Amino acid sequence: MNTQLSMKSSLVASCGINCSVCRAYLRDKKKCPGCRGRNENKSFSCVNCKIKNCSELNKNHLKFCFECGKFPCERIKQMDKRYRTKYNMSTIENLENIKKFGLREFIKNEKIRWACSQCGGIICVHIGSCFSCGKK
Ligand SMILES: [Zn+2]
Repeated sequence: MNTQLSMKSSLVASCGINCSVCRAYLRDKKKCPGCRGRNENKSFSCVNCKIKNCSELNKNHLKFCFECGKFPCERIKQMDKRYRTKYNMSTIENLENIKKFGLREFIKNEKIRWACSQCGGIICVHIGSCFSCGKK
């Protein structure tokens, strides 16, 4: 696809959210390193996220929620609902795609899904428009 658009698989959080398209990651100032990165520059809600801090994930050293015996639990269902309602993206669907096709294939599709047709930048999931040129 586009060379301007790079995405790392390490930026996909346990819950299925791709931090590459998050406004906290895309911004230049106080850039968040992503869910799996250090807490520096992370929002309060991300530092205290119930999924990031989930004992099942941590105790069993799971990378993604779908690897858990309790998937889909209430926490991930709530997160999924919030993202579907507010941002038109399903974290459970993301997780199911990662499970089915693998992380590499998921990233390949994400690059296409979030690419701006005008400038090749990234469409931010939270603002719903291109982070580079502003195209809706
Ligand atoms: Zn653009």
